[in-house]
Amino acid sequence: MGHRPRRVAMLSVHTSPLHQPGTGDAGGMNVYIVELSRQLAALGTEVEIFTRATAGGLPPTVELAPGVLVRHVDAGPYEGLSKEELPAQMCAFTHGVTQIWAGQRPGYFDLVHSHYWLSGQVGWLVAERWGVPLVHAMHTMAKVKNAALAAGDSPEPAARVIGETQIVRAADRLIANTAEEAAELVRHYDADPMRTAVVHPGVNLDVFRPADGRSAARARLGLPQDALIPLFVGRIQPLKAPDLLLYAVRELLDRDPSLADPGRLVVPVVGGPSGTGLARPERLRRLADRLGLTGLVRFHPPVGQERLADWYRAASALVMPSYSESFGLVAAEAQACGTPVVAAAVGGLPVVVRDEATGYLIEGHDPVHYADALARFAADSGLSDRLGRAAALHARRFGWAATAAGTVSVYRAATESHRFALRSAHG
Ligand code: UDP
Repeated sequence: MGHRPRRVAMLSVHTSPLHQPGTGDAGGMNVYIVELSRQLAALGTEVEIFTRATAGGLPPTVELAPGVLVRHVDAGPYEGLSKEELPAQMCAFTHGVTQIWAGQRPGYFDLVHSHYWLSGQVGWLVAERWGVPLVHAMHTMAKVKNAALAAGDSPEPAARVIGETQIVRAADRLIANTAEEAAELVRHYDADPMRTAVVHPGVNLDVFRPADGRSAARARLGLPQDALIPLFVGRIQPLKAPDLLLYAVRELLDRDPSLADPGRLVVPVVGGPSGTGLARPERLRRLADRLGLTGLVRFHPPVGQERLADWYRAASALVMPSYSESFGLVAAEAQACGTPVVAAAVGGLPVVVRDEATGYLIEGHDPVHYADALARFAADSGLSDRLGRAAALHARRFGWAATAAGTVSVYRAATESHRFALRSAHG
């Protein structure tokens, strides 16, 4: 086995680990990079995270935690560039990374770990230039996303598919969130199974825990004690299908109009706009009005983890009707807080949620099936607590320490095979 690297260059071009997740381009990947880097530092591997500067006057470096440094790289104008326009800035970003590195002694970084295909493009070049292994995590894949688009959502461009294919070939190791994702990498991108490892993401189990329970959380958030509360948490984008939850709630009300009585039903939507289609939350707000759900559906901007934990605890169930989800961190976080999850049986969600034990997995995207699941919670006031207890136990499998330990194993294997490849190349 190769060595554990002393210092890793983590590449997160299009979104900063310092941004609030839950809106725009900041989501699970940001949380993943922050939590993984912290745990790696605790294991003795320092991390420097390179991200594009998206505002003027940012300090060149910010210490995120002991042993974890964020480096802001100038590449293109600070504001006004969408993620879709970033491919044109990859040369500038790579230049910025190599300039920073030029000031360091040789061998400063032992390994490059890139996240999402844009960073992979940069990682491909810098890893080769530095003579170190490249480990890459896709987070999402264009081919998988395009195969499960929501109505009206725009497909990912062919250029992304080509870029992803190049990185799959170039990386010494690929990290997939689940066995399903690893199989997709092999099936759709011809990845080498021997170089594709599965490491589950995690949950911050110190923050996301049942604590003092559902009714205390409801009291803190000013929510009615006996209401049915199906919760949506995440970026408001077509892929995550918050509209489907609204249609399901309409269906539920048609079956039992008394649920519209004061204090019987609240539907919180926690998160901000992102992407296309439902990009502006007004569209979702208008849909709520059109479906007669005004006042029942309540929109809340993204919140920090401590507050978010209370939203999870307060809910009867978290509802995640996504069309595609490489893991679905919010489903794991909600369960860790003792709240069951009603989720689409897509991507990583069948790993995160145990059907009938910690929540319900729904095949397809018919609001009627989601209404059926919500009706069970409406009919049985003890169901959330019963499934929630199993959910909290199940979620304990997903600590970030385990993610970091698994990642270090991948680093070691990448280091070993990279050395071997170099030795073979030089006879
Ligand atoms: N999140 C947050 N505050 C919010 C909403 C979401 O911190 O108000 C975080 C949430 O804790 C989770 C991440 O955003 O860790 C979303 O990750 P997920 O894998 O569910 O979805 P993604 O955004 O990656 O598609």
